[in-house]
Amino acid sequence: MNNTKHFEFWPARLPKSLTVPKTTLFEDLEMTTRKYPDKVAMQYYGASYTYEEIYSEAQKLAGYLEHELGIQKQDKVLLFIQNSPQFLISFFAILRLRAVVVPINPMSVTEDLEFYVKDCGINHGIVGQELINKVLPLKESHLLSELIVATYSDYINQSNTSLELPSLVTEPRQTNIEVISWHEAMQAEKKATEFNGKENDVAVIPYTSGTTGLPKGCIHTNRTVQANTVGAAHWMNMTADTVTLTTLPLFHVTGLVHSALTPIYAGGTLVILTRWNRENAAKAIEEFGCNHWINISTMLIDFLSNPNLENYDISSLTQIGGGGAPLPEAVGEDLYNRTGLRFVEGYGLSETISHTHFNPPDRPKLQCLGIPSFDVDARVIDLESGEELGANEEGELVVNGPQVFKGYFQRDEENEKSFITLDGKSFFRTGDIVKMDEDGYFFIVDRLKRMINASGYKVWPTEVESILYKHPAVQQACVVSAPDEKRGETVKAFVILKENYKGEVDEGDLINWSKDQMAAYKYPRIVEFKEEFPTTSSGKILWRELQKNS
Ligand code: AMP
Repeated sequence: MNNTKHFEFWPARLPKSLTVPKTTLFEDLEMTTRKYPDKVAMQYYGASYTYEEIYSEAQKLAGYLEHELGIQKQDKVLLFIQNSPQFLISFFAILRLRAVVVPINPMSVTEDLEFYVKDCGINHGIVGQELINKVLPLKESHLLSELIVATYSDYINQSNTSLELPSLVTEPRQTNIEVISWHEAMQAEKKATEFNGKENDVAVIPYTSGTTGLPKGCIHTNRTVQANTVGAAHWMNMTADTVTLTTLPLFHVTGLVHSALTPIYAGGTLVILTRWNRENAAKAIEEFGCNHWINISTMLIDFLSNPNLENYDISSLTQIGGGGAPLPEAVGEDLYNRTGLRFVEGYGLSETISHTHFNPPDRPKLQCLGIPSFDVDARVIDLESGEELGANEEGELVVNGPQVFKGYFQRDEENEKSFITLDGKSFFRTGDIVKMDEDGYFFIVDRLKRMINASGYKVWPTEVESILYKHPAVQQACVVSAPDEKRGETVKAFVILKENYKGEVDEGDLINWSKDQMAAYKYPRIVEFKEEFPTTSSGKILWRELQKNS
């Protein structure tokens, strides 16, 4: 074992251990509300909401969920809403009942939702107004018993904003199925019974595919989530003066923790955008004096390439950071030259409810995951032997820390494979290949897992392949990552056609068909036909070889 590994450097810089309050996430909202009842918690397209307003709506919704829908402790509730105050009000209302939030990507199609609902045993959903048609079939087939429809437009004050409004209205299709309106739930004025939540209650189950296969739910408790909210608040020196630009999707762990729960914990203000729009982002920074913005590289690249950017005063920004995908060095330099700000890059996964690593804000390195965050023991292990490696040696990153999840929901086999014991401690195997330099900074080198990182949206090849196999012409499919200027990576499918379809179906036909079958970020943007695939002697497709030639 090499002694240059972790960390002469680390204990000198930061306290190794951070005391996380033994509260729940709902109580954190309550504490902030007690401290700052009249402070604006959320700005949303011309409307503003104080902490007291947000808190009391969460309480009313919780009362309705409990008394009218019968939602109880540890029931799973689907949260299928775009970024909006209602996403967060619903989030806290569910936690108020000690029930569990299952946040799902709003781009998901009905088939995706059906999978999540069955996999997680969900009975009830809170759904955004423009997403209702995707969910109705699940209520029609009795997979879901009740749906509450959140109407964001109620929260917008059009006369009071220069921000371009997203179009958020979809006519619900004709149906006999009844759904519950947000108004009805609010006006019922029901009061939930006394709160006795516990720090180790399961709180959120975000979905990911882990290192292989189909999506799996990651079990997170109040405690695992708080380890990261409290950690991020310290790392970024967040206070009640923090004004966060919330552009990352809230269903995803980075958006949820860094762009919402952390500023709420600190008593800051969220300026929420439902959809990414670079002009709106610049306007919002100028109009509300945003000083904190966590994003993903594709957003920042788009933001900086806006020819009108010079026309906006974005000098209020003091902290910009993010993770989920690498930020190219040149973009970090461009940001620095224009704003004098260094991008604070971080690294983490759904399994760790966002970061395990962060760059030190005053000494970041470019295109680097950073150093381990509070209480995180991060090691690099040899892919073959599982032995721990030293500085500058490439291997799999494994992490132990208070933010590490409690395992995949009902996936015993996967759980067994996903952890390794070192020095008597359990470490989560990230499936990312990294190396650590002599200063203790980590860099990502490659991935063990079959995953495509398209603008930060993670696409799981096995899932896309299983849909492609439903096309009658597809004999074999292998989905890989291909480089893409805008999205970083994109989805490419190699396909072997069945004999009788050759010449009948072309690449464009398959792309168009795929668009209707899966969420927009998943469908293959490139299809290439092949006569055969490279395989191992046992017939397994050598996807890495195909990927090399993409
Ligand atoms: P998710 O579960 O969607 O948060 O995806 C986690 C994966 O995103 C990690 O396993 C990495 O492969 C990737 N990732 C996260 N942060 C970074 C980063 N800063 N640079 C490169 N890849 C990242």
